[in-house]
Amino acid sequence: MSELELLRAKIEKTTLQMLELFNERGKIAQEIGKLKEMQGVKRFDPIQERKLLNLLAEHNDGPFDTTTVQHVFKEIIKASLELQKDDNRKALLVSRKKKPEDTIVSILNENIGDGNAHFIMGPCAVESYEQVKTVAQAMKKQGLTLMRGGAFKPRTSPYDFQGLGLDGLKILRQVADEEGMAVISEILDPNDMEVALDYVDVIQIGARNMHNFELLKVAGATNKPVLLKRGLSATIEEFIYAAEYIIAQGNDQIILCERGIRTYERATRNTLDISAVPILKKETHLPVVVDVTHSTGRKDLLLPTTKAAIAVGADAVMAEVHPDPAVALSDSAQQMDIAEFNAYMDEVKEFAKVVQKSP
Ligand code: PEP
Ligand code: MN
Repeated sequence: MSELELLRAKIEKTTLQMLELFNERGKIAQEIGKLKEMQGVKRFDPIQERKLLNLLAEHNDGPFDTTTVQHVFKEIIKASLELQKDDNRKALLVSRKKKPEDTIVSILNENIGDGNAHFIMGPCAVESYEQVKTVAQAMKKQGLTLMRGGAFKPRTSPYDFQGLGLDGLKILRQVADEEGMAVISEILDPNDMEVALDYVDVIQIGARNMHNFELLKVAGATNKPVLLKRGLSATIEEFIYAAEYIIAQGNDQIILCERGIRTYERATRNTLDISAVPILKKETHLPVVVDVTHSTGRKDLLLPTTKAAIAVGADAVMAEVHPDPAVALSDSAQQMDIAEFNAYMDEVKEFAKVVQKSP
């Protein structure tokens, strides 16, 4: 063996020894992560990191200079933190790693998450019995049973229409019972939850409340499915943790709703994060719905984004329908009228057949 070959063999051996030690260190970091999780202590500890870097400086005899050594070890410390994070995610009850099978949320006769495309339609806000009835009848003609409608409206301005409240829920229930449909409606206040349960089949938690942890806990303590919307500027990770708040209370009937996030783009009301759908399906076992109305804020984009949602694997699509959008008390620009809704549904059904998802 030449001297070069000998040295190469030596370097290979040392590299493998380092690999072994690297992974051994990783395992210890995982143990530390578990302990910290149990004790509720933060994973990142800058004082401990500084201590380790000082230790390296003290013991470094070269030939690498201390800055280089510290740089390399900073990367190792970062990788260890990532390991701890991964372990923590695996432990989440909503995680696909925890439960590999799809969760199916059954509402009336529809099973969201069964591989077919489902549709949640209805007005932005409940305004009158006649208004809800007209939309429900149009939906029924299209074979749809999942009706949305806001009774408690989270409006940007306190001077805008705030919804009919309990009266709105009563209208939704009455029409739904008459037409054989299910009611999906947003609850804003934990104190309204109990009475709302008498009227709704699905509790909607709106984008503005995704971080309202007390509301999430109250919804998690009910036995009704929860449609959880992604926060206005929430990351996918934050969205998943919000769902974890619900499931942690014992309620696993959760539907995740991508409804667009706030970006610098003004061509649409929000930016539909279409890749969130396959990511959420991969990371969690929960069904995912795409709200094409609030994400785009544009009628002309409802159809293409619905097709995109179905094609990318969404379990359901939500959109708003109003008998006379021009006079709607909220979201008048982007609600479909009945004729537009019929044209939309006809085309969506054709598309669903092409991608083999019977609506
Ligand atoms: C809604 O669906 O009625 C609504 C208010 O949407 P978001 O919470 O997504 O803004
Ligand atoms: Mn709306």
